[in-house]
Amino acid sequence: MANASDFITRWQALSDRVVDIDVAGVVVGGGPDLAYLTGHDGQSYERLTAAAASLHEGAPLPTLVTPKLEAARITPLPDVFAISPWEDADDPIALTAAALPSEGRVLVSDSLAASHLLGLQQALPNVTFLALNETLGGMRSIKSADEREALRRVGGLADKVQTQIREGDMPLIGRTEKEVAADVHDRLLAAGHDTVEFIIVASGPNSASPHHHPGDRVIEEGEMVLFDFGGSFNGFNSDITRCVYTGPIPDEVATAWASLVAAQELAFQAAKPGNKLKDVDLAARNSLVADGYGPEFIHRTGHGIGTEVHEHPYVMATNESPIEVGNAFSIEPGIYRDGQWGMRLEDIVVIEADGAVRCNATNRDLVSVS
Ligand code: ZN
Ligand code: ZN
Ligand code: ZN
Repeated sequence: MANASDFITRWQALSDRVVDIDVAGVVVGGGPDLAYLTGHDGQSYERLTAAAASLHEGAPLPTLVTPKLEAARITPLPDVFAISPWEDADDPIALTAAALPSEGRVLVSDSLAASHLLGLQQALPNVTFLALNETLGGMRSIKSADEREALRRVGGLADKVQTQIREGDMPLIGRTEKEVAADVHDRLLAAGHDTVEFIIVASGPNSASPHHHPGDRVIEEGEMVLFDFGGSFNGFNSDITRCVYTGPIPDEVATAWASLVAAQELAFQAAKPGNKLKDVDLAARNSLVADGYGPEFIHRTGHGIGTEVHEHPYVMATNESPIEVGNAFSIEPGIYRDGQWGMRLEDIVVIEADGAVRCNATNRDLVSVS
């Protein structure tokens, strides 16, 4: 999706962002940060892959240090980076250090392995390493129009599977969570995802555990089943949560669900330029507190999403950052009643000039299925 001119713009934007904080260089390990800056994901297990650069005016191009056996997967972009391949008998730390300033402050991505960072610290004793996470996370949290479109598109793929579940197209009662999760997995791919990233199927009391792993519990009649799943398409991720009830919905559950829908809608309305990220969290939280569910809403309201399922910005009561056009994040309040049931309602939204737009269109009611 991104091309050489995008990568040049991103490197320039990175230097512009750090000029005020007196940063001399940057080193980015394999993963989504590296892909954002070079187009290469650099996933190479224990072998060191990193882009290293000095950031001063007139500095040479960034150097992409890579195991030689990975080089065939790299699209060379000679206007963006130089490639420095290494073989197993070489010292990749020395190659990386050679591309960095020998003193001053260097930002390092979270994805660089601790062992590689320790090696660089030894090789460059006059450099102070600081976290790159906030800086690059902030840049990546502003999605281009194309990236927002990619998120809407992949959201539509996940919608298809939630809709199948809600229409009773997937048998639940009498099957284990694991069996149902395997079914969801196949359907996510059939809907058009390239990969499946995660699947939560949580039934009955298990639904009160927000990150439950599908297990051998058999789904019974008359209980909650929470579905939270996502996959990627063209590098961008979906993530949606809906719940169904296997039988008539008890009043207590229906009342809680209505409160949850209202809280999610209030958060959605608060998700607009001019507000802060904390306003989105507090909109949902205050509403649930007022309805008496405060102690049962045990996590933040959402997380950014893009090439990673969880990335900046984080939608939490302490995040004072402004909401910006191009942000993309989940809005997913939940109510968890220990030992009984849990519920969560999650949509991905992208921020446009006049407010949030949902990437998911699945109906938000709690439906009864058999
Ligand atoms: Zn989660
Ligand atoms: Zn989710
Ligand atoms: Zn999520």
